[in-house]
Amino acid sequence: MSPVGKTITIIGGGASGVLLAAHLLRSDDPDLRVTLIERQGQLGQGLAYSARMRHHRVNVPARGMSAFADSPDHFWRWLQRREPGRHASSFVFVPRRQYGAYLEDVLREAGDRIPGRLRVLSEEVLALNETRVGVETLLGNGTSIASHWAALAVGHETQAARGRGIAVRSGSESDTPLDPDASVMILGSGLSMVDAWISLAEAQHRGPITVVSRNGLLPTGHRDVAPLSIDAADVPFGTSLTYLARWFRDLVRETESQGGDWRSVVDGLRPYNQRLWQSWPQRERRQFLRHVRPWWNVHRHRLPPDLHARLVQAVARGQVTLVAAEFVGIERSETGVRATLRPRGTDERQIMDVARVYDCGGVSVDVRASNNPLVQHLVRTGAAQADSMHIGLDIDDHCALVGADGNVSQRVRVVGPLTRGRFFEIEAVPDIRLQCQALAESILRAE
Ligand SMILES: Cc1cc2nc3c(=O)[nH]c(=O)nc-3n(C[C@H](O)[C@H](O)[C@H](O)COP(=O)(O)OP(=O)(O)OC[C@H]3O[C@@H](n4cnc5c(N)ncnc54)[C@H](O)[C@@H]3O)c2cc1C
Repeated sequence: MSPVGKTITIIGGGASGVLLAAHLLRSDDPDLRVTLIERQGQLGQGLAYSARMRHHRVNVPARGMSAFADSPDHFWRWLQRREPGRHASSFVFVPRRQYGAYLEDVLREAGDRIPGRLRVLSEEVLALNETRVGVETLLGNGTSIASHWAALAVGHETQAARGRGIAVRSGSESDTPLDPDASVMILGSGLSMVDAWISLAEAQHRGPITVVSRNGLLPTGHRDVAPLSIDAADVPFGTSLTYLARWFRDLVRETESQGGDWRSVVDGLRPYNQRLWQSWPQRERRQFLRHVRPWWNVHRHRLPPDLHARLVQAVARGQVTLVAAEFVGIERSETGVRATLRPRGTDERQIMDVARVYDCGGVSVDVRASNNPLVQHLVRTGAAQADSMHIGLDIDDHCALVGADGNVSQRVRVVGPLTRGRFFEIEAVPDIRLQCQALAESILRAE
């Protein structure tokens, strides 16, 4: 164990790891030591903010993306220093790579506050072992690090590629130049689909684009409206989903009848989303995931307004077609690719011939199928297990890892999207920063 004061190892240097480090380093304790380990080398980027293209943008306005909830203008001020006079208001949606640069600066500033407290390692973590006094972290280079605490911030994994290598990831090496008039299929209708579509649009693609998803829903767009002020006493915690849905619809109707916007209701409910999720029994949660989540996602995770308007126009002029269907399979054909779909609600098979299929299946959530050696190690040894919904890792209310035997770890904590089984609303920066702040404070307080 290190001879200095409190030591914390953070595994993963994406947004969550950087936010946790920055919150820890707000402490004035000169003996604090934070080690941040990131296998990709780039800090603050992770899956979301490593997007290289300028038209791959954040889906939260700048005013919501500060690293610190108690300093809500922090990102906006950074942006104004970077690009003086460029943005008229903080309702602006910057390129995701720019947000990654902001997080890198946040980390650098946090480290510079009291030099010598932050150490950054460019390594892959393979295993964690909890000891009597702390945690031993094993690195890919064969060495290990001892610390009092470890925090997993290992984030997202992309879903295993579908279509036996025939479907292509947008922006990957296989995404070679296309005939601009060729017909294209995109599997998935979430934010990765939007990335793939806008890349095609920016490359002046003119051919038809078929977007296939189980629900056939199009993401909605943001509007600059204030969240509705909702009193906690009015929120129906612990009721059935049917009751909640009726309450929600009534509130939207009432808001709209007074000239308001449905987005205000969705955003007004946000501070209660974690509590709502936790108030439901398993059956309700399962039903939500199965039946409501797709609809919720398109209303909750909205697109920048201009991007949304472009997408709606592309649908209106018939270039983009949304198809509600299950993807069945894919094979190479003489002219390109032949995809088989099962339209929603039928047993029929629909064959489509296209030049290319983009796989935009999004992120994988079942840790039992993880490709991450650290997650595999933790699950294999029983130090970790999937949460009961199989959408992340099992943790307690304080982000402590729960093992297969139900024991709560004294030393290992988890932050970010992998905690969605406990909190559900924990995907985006406005929620992750609060989680990191609370965790940092509890670690700093602990003996
Ligand atoms: C495409 C996309 C766009 C998004 N856009 C937004 C947005 O605009 N606004 C918003 O608020 N949220 C957005 N999100 C939500 C996103 O979940 C969070 O904002 C945030 O990026 C999550 O970061 P993370 O660090 O938890 O995970 P990740 O970004 O996945 O980062 C995890 C990091 O851990 C590293 N790592 C993993 N395992 C190991 C290991 N064993 N050893 C060492 N390092 C390891 C990885 O290399 C990676 O850098 C988006 C998500 C996606 C997928």
